[in-house]
Amino acid sequence: MIQDRIGRPLTALRVSVIDRCNLRCTYCMPADVFNKNYTYLKSNEILTFDEIQQVVQSAMQVGVRKIRLTGGEPLLRPNLSELVKKIKSVGIDEIALTTNGLLLDEHAETLYDAGLDRVTISLDTLSPSIFQKMSGTSVSIQKVFSGIRAAQKTGFLSIKVNAVIQRGMNDGEILPLAHFARTEGIHLRFIEFMDVGHTNQWSKDQVVSGREILEVLKSRWDLVPIPPKKNHVAQDWIYEDGLGKVGFINSVSEAFCGGCDRGRLTADGIFYTCLFSAKGHDLKRALRESYDADLLTQILKSQWSEREDRYSELRADKNEQPRMEMSRIGG
Ligand code: SAM
Ligand code: SF4
Ligand code: SF4
Repeated sequence: MIQDRIGRPLTALRVSVIDRCNLRCTYCMPADVFNKNYTYLKSNEILTFDEIQQVVQSAMQVGVRKIRLTGGEPLLRPNLSELVKKIKSVGIDEIALTTNGLLLDEHAETLYDAGLDRVTISLDTLSPSIFQKMSGTSVSIQKVFSGIRAAQKTGFLSIKVNAVIQRGMNDGEILPLAHFARTEGIHLRFIEFMDVGHTNQWSKDQVVSGREILEVLKSRWDLVPIPPKKNHVAQDWIYEDGLGKVGFINSVSEAFCGGCDRGRLTADGIFYTCLFSAKGHDLKRALRESYDADLLTQILKSQWSEREDRYSELRADKNEQPRMEMSRIGG
């Protein structure tokens, strides 16, 4: 198995399948930037399902065992379940999806039948008005709840909810979200608001740290830490009354680059070795100009073995470096 310069293997690949979205979350795709004048990828620039399958096959040669489909909003990509089938057919251990849940109601069952193992739904609030404010749209939050219900009716190995808490926006939603997740038997994870891209007006003042969120939860429930698994980015805690667990992805306040084993592929086929990379490697050229599986594997090997990214651990004063937007790199 290949390792990067500081001994980290490549075991997971996040695949963005589209750069468009049906929401305009203020921390990801603010509506004033991602408006009708914004230039999205053209359809011929986006990797086909066969091309994504080829990348997955080569990535498996380098050590990848898990795939996560993301976006933009991945459920906007037509026939996504066909991609799930294609990826499953090459023998990947696990395939997961991160979605805003709006279209999950209509797709959950087909995705499950196609072989999707896990689903993560992003939901930052239970309040219809905060949802509209944070999502930059007038879409009803009920669509997300219907998506969650549909996922619960299938046999997914896990259904998680990701919540980003922004100070002054939804910091009053910590207890309601936790209560909801406990009652629904859903694993809730709090992700710290990150300085990805350049358009979300990130400032450290708006970051509510995982530690702070944990204190809020502890004011209501007794929680016990679960010993971390190797290369696990989330810190999980179990409710002492046995009603579920809750996780924290403290990517800003407690960086975890040392265990980072994920590569990222944009919808147009650029491979990044870090969420904050200034530069990626264009695999589309290797795929489209006389495709050679061994060559693709070699590219992935050399990209990973040269990797020394530790952005979150170094973070300070890096804001000037050009970075990919979250909607392109997929989280
Ligand atoms: N549209 C899908 C969704 O929202 O689940 C998938 C793509 S989205 C980019 C993936 C994840 O990134 C979501 O859980 C979202 O909350 C998270 N995200 C986006 N911008 C973020 C930011 N600035 N800081 C932390 N997480 C962010
Ligand atoms: Fe869309 Fe997901 Fe970004 Fe929200 S976080 S704008 S749902 S891609
Ligand atoms: Fe991995 Fe880069 Fe995030 Fe560190 S900053 S955990 S290397 S993606």
